[in-house]
Amino acid sequence: MKTSPKLISTISGIEYPFERIEEFADNGESLEVFIPNLEKAKIKSGEYLWQRFADFLPFTQMSEDFHLGEGNTSLIQADQRLREFTGISNLLLKNEAQNPTWSFKDRGSLACIFMSKKMGEKVTATISSGNMGNSIAAYGAKAGIKVVVFVPEFTPKEKIMAMSIHGAIIIRVKAEDYSMMKKHILSFAKKLNLRIVSGNGPIRVEGYKLTAFEMFEQMKNKVPDYIAVPTSACGHIRGLFKGYRELKQAGITNKLPKMIVVQAKNNSPIVTAIKKGEEHVVPFSNFHTVAEAITTGNPMGGDEIIHKAKKYNWLAESVSEEEILVSQKKLGEVGYFVEPASATSLYAVKKLFKAGKIEKGATVVMMLTGTGLKDLDVFQYYHLNVMESDIGKIEDDVRNLLKNIYR
Ligand SMILES: *Cc1c(COP(=O)(O)O)cnc(C)c1O
Repeated sequence: MKTSPKLISTISGIEYPFERIEEFADNGESLEVFIPNLEKAKIKSGEYLWQRFADFLPFTQMSEDFHLGEGNTSLIQADQRLREFTGISNLLLKNEAQNPTWSFKDRGSLACIFMSKKMGEKVTATISSGNMGNSIAAYGAKAGIKVVVFVPEFTPKEKIMAMSIHGAIIIRVKAEDYSMMKKHILSFAKKLNLRIVSGNGPIRVEGYKLTAFEMFEQMKNKVPDYIAVPTSACGHIRGLFKGYRELKQAGITNKLPKMIVVQAKNNSPIVTAIKKGEEHVVPFSNFHTVAEAITTGNPMGGDEIIHKAKKYNWLAESVSEEEILVSQKKLGEVGYFVEPASATSLYAVKKLFKAGKIEKGATVVMMLTGTGLKDLDVFQYYHLNVMESDIGKIEDDVRNLLKNIYR
């Protein structure tokens, strides 16, 4: 008989029951699921990750009725040009843009929606600048749960459209500051008994954890030296790390990866704190960055990441707007169209390698978190290379073009 899982706060270890409507501890700390009997956990056989890693999950079964085919994303060697650009000879790309709504958020949304169903909820809500809302909208649609998404004004229209096709109720909220808007919504939601799933809730993190297990299988039971993660609400990075930590607790591996926290320089509340050696998030407000998927200026879960970065010797790096655009373009030139937030890792690992923080020969995985197609505003910064022609001169145009190529 399995002991039931519980929630514990990630810094001071305060315990809460598993079925908690608020996603953070009373003192604001992020919560994580404590999995009982991990030392006896084994990898089993089964079609889905959640079946093979059932011993590591708080749910005895994650229903097939609610999934949309998330996961099984590719993990491949980066192109030679990216390896030269960064200096890292052993660079791998984990392409999470291959998920059903084109971002890693889907793995967490499956867990969240499964939990909502279990708790008998008819409505679930989230506050999101895009991918989270899109993902919850899709999984809610699949499971027959009404989804409410609160979006800030800067949300790209492509992401709003994607939410809308799934029938979500979208509320665009005018507010001076995104963090303030979040705080306000969270405060009244509790009164209304409306569960707001955040990017850093403990159940969502259980979904992200599966990515670590998937990579462990893909790398033939090896653990990479570093994993670079564009970070905002902090759910993804801690989910990945929790997966490896639990494999280690089960005695399946004895190595932990070092995480690399990546943020945009214009909004780097966690990276700034880590670099300055501070214990708490350094809040940012009234900023602008092209990396709109990583715009949490004052992340509630940030302190946990700062704490873990110190404890486990993680790395942290921020990148300028220009570096983000260069990175997005570089990835595009080798076949990956990711959104600006996803591209941040490329320049970050390049700078860390140059500074000697990543050693020669180390294996580095870059998480490509989401697709470029959902943020097309960014093209205002690029030159669109389109050759104009017409039916009368197209043949000559192509002849000249080929002549230039073969010259
Ligand atoms: C949500 C998101 C992130 C940040 O992940 P967190 O779990 O909020 O830290 C990074 N990139 C993309 C594309 C995202 O959608």
